[in-house]
Amino acid sequence: MFENLSERLSGVFDRLTKQGALSEEDVKTALREVRVALLEADVSLPVARDFVKAVQDKATGQAVTKSVTPGQQVVKIVHDALVDTLRGEGDPGALKIDNPPAPILMVGLQGSGKTTTTAKLAKRLKERDGKRVLMASLDTNRPAAMEQLAILGNQIGVDTLPIVKGEDPVAIAKRAKTQASLGGYDVYMLDTAGRLHIDQELIAQAAAVRDVANPRETLLVVDGLTGQDAVNVATEFDAKIGVTGVVLTRMDGDGRGGAALSMRAVTGKPIRFVGLGEKMDAIETFEPDRIAGRILGMGDIVALVEKAQETIEAEQAEKMMKRMMKGQFNMNDLRMQLEQMLKMGGMEGMMSMMPGMGKMAKQVEQAGFDDSILKRQIALIQSMTKKERANPALLQASRKKRIAAGAGMEVSDLNKLLKMHRQMGDMMKKMGKMGKGGMLKQAMK
Ligand code: GDP
Repeated sequence: MFENLSERLSGVFDRLTKQGALSEEDVKTALREVRVALLEADVSLPVARDFVKAVQDKATGQAVTKSVTPGQQVVKIVHDALVDTLRGEGDPGALKIDNPPAPILMVGLQGSGKTTTTAKLAKRLKERDGKRVLMASLDTNRPAAMEQLAILGNQIGVDTLPIVKGEDPVAIAKRAKTQASLGGYDVYMLDTAGRLHIDQELIAQAAAVRDVANPRETLLVVDGLTGQDAVNVATEFDAKIGVTGVVLTRMDGDGRGGAALSMRAVTGKPIRFVGLGEKMDAIETFEPDRIAGRILGMGDIVALVEKAQETIEAEQAEKMMKRMMKGQFNMNDLRMQLEQMLKMGGMEGMMSMMPGMGKMAKQVEQAGFDDSILKRQIALIQSMTKKERANPALLQASRKKRIAAGAGMEVSDLNKLLKMHRQMGDMMKKMGKMGKGGMLKQAMK
């Protein structure tokens, strides 16, 4: 149905000469295609425009990784930027449900999948988190909707608040709260009424329920297939009710998921879950990676570029290893190591890959070593000249002062770094002599 973006881009780039870095013209040409792809994926025009502009600034001048084409490289950059935009803060799946009973308010238009999602989340809370959940339907306009929740509750083994005819939504919310407290429930979920369109009455009702329930989470359920409409709905609900997250349903359909990007960019609200079908298990925590791949329709390229980058890192690491064995471990190597440590989530991961380094990792840890120290050490190395990095023995007291000041640190910090470098160098040399090169290389793979 859609022309594959990667095909389009490769067409564009076949005509360009291969260069070491992405030129402004290359990037512009590629991003024109990306913009069309975004629009086809249902991303709204202003969002697509802003997004492309941000990526353009970021991509221009970036080195093209060996063994991929510039077009592929741009796709990777776009993909990463999409992931960045889509990602909210914290774990999207972690619902705030401390202080039982915690109220969760479910809002959204009729037909968006609100009732289904309420039950899916209740099941998830029960099964994954071992929570006792009570569900209540507040849809007094549609008795069938109240029945539907009761049926789903039965099916998944989650209690529902008994239906009392003639009660208004606020009264039901109060009763749910009382029942949840008395019954020792951890969570109670309020499935509010939906309408086909947003109207004053709907909003007023949801607001009144919110005021009595004081929900820990207010989740807006929107149909992921409705594109721009979904964004308008989200904006409106958030302005009037205040939502803490969005659930996108029908992501099992063949929509391209562009609504997710628009929604996030326009409302700033995190997407927490996606609905992937009618069954009660068909819900997942939102994963920006997946949606980004879907919007671009090219997960394979992203994987390819990642692989190519990994290969190059491995080549660099091997070269570094060789130098180390010969006792030529310099500050550039140390910096690369520090950067890698950061990437691998700190000291332990890195050291554990290198035989003989475990003890040092402990010592460093005991000395209060954490990621911020890694970053500061990298800053120190960056403040050195090329010559100094190649041969830190050149550093005189006055230069040390300048470097430390340049990186906003003390000379003692720099001395510690130099000491660490020496110790590591010594150890490498020793290991090289012991003929453990094979082992070390193994560990670097
Ligand atoms: P409500 O009016 O917002 O409460 O919507 P319902 O929960 O009654 O859902 C309306 C229809 O959409 C039902 O037939 C659901 O089974 C279906 N539905 C809900 N979520 C999803 C989903 O993620 N994927 C698919 N394919 N169908 C869904």
